[in-house]
Amino acid sequence: SPLPDYLLEVVDACASDRSGALADYIPDLARADPERLGVALSTIDGEVYAAGDVDVEFTIQSISKPFVYALAIQDSGLDEVLRRISVEPSGNAFNELSLEAGTGRPYNPMINAGAIASHALVVDGLSSEDERVERVLEAFSELAGRELHVNEAVFESEMSTAHRNLGIAHMLRAQGIIEDDPEEIVRGYTRQCSIDVTARDLALMSATLANSGRQPQSGRRIIDPRVVRQVLSVMLSCGMYDAAGDWITTVGIPAKSGVSGGVIGALPGQLGLAVFSPRLDEHGNSVRGVQVCERLSADTGLHLMESV
Ligand code: GLU
Repeated sequence: SPLPDYLLEVVDACASDRSGALADYIPDLARADPERLGVALSTIDGEVYAAGDVDVEFTIQSISKPFVYALAIQDSGLDEVLRRISVEPSGNAFNELSLEAGTGRPYNPMINAGAIASHALVVDGLSSEDERVERVLEAFSELAGRELHVNEAVFESEMSTAHRNLGIAHMLRAQGIIEDDPEEIVRGYTRQCSIDVTARDLALMSATLANSGRQPQSGRRIIDPRVVRQVLSVMLSCGMYDAAGDWITTVGIPAKSGVSGGVIGALPGQLGLAVFSPRLDEHGNSVRGVQVCERLSADTGLHLMESV
């Protein structure tokens, strides 16, 4: 098939762009190799196409958010989750301390406030820190189709500067959005963000979303189809930090990015894709990640609003 050649061509075309900067508010992320670039794509039949650095591990960071939101809904029920986390795009930065006026809920599960609240709803409202992390790690391993691990060095590094997230969690506790110890929740959330993955893993994880919750290679149903619909909808409106509107118009598929330079996209009924390249633009999205996705969308007609 011409797809592998095409992916190589895209990687080559985007590799020359050295703009953007590494995230440095988490000390360990500033040590990443900025030249890395990998693209992986998985069809819903589990065929994986890859080009570039697709087997290099990096921490999943915010790309964990849609998957943990799915687990929260599965474990605690959609009503309970909606009572605590809204689904409105905030237009604010991901680490903003703001909560929705009137209800006091975090705006959506793709910003830190909403993601910290999602983490607290995994297993159920009464579980321990270890139980929640174990549940997340097991589910992510099933989604990726191999055993994943927490990168303890990145975890420690992020915890050493996690003052904002601790502040957010204390505010959520004051509002009654979370009921557990805010510090335990932030530790668990930060471990969730510190799970090492590759672009190949992420392509399979997003292909599971595209395949209404069934992992394309193992054939196992990991997420309920109704939960997948909720998750993809929120990714479409809120997945790309405060550049979500740009993304919907130019690329046009549900997506999520993270500060370590990963981007995933899921085209329902067709494929999941993942790009990894660490330099970020002013919104916090991978510069080359966005570029690769824009090219793929333009060249292959991925855009959801395109009918021809
Ligand atoms: N663990 C990071 C944080 O909470 C994730 C941020 C991101 O990838 O957007 O700040």
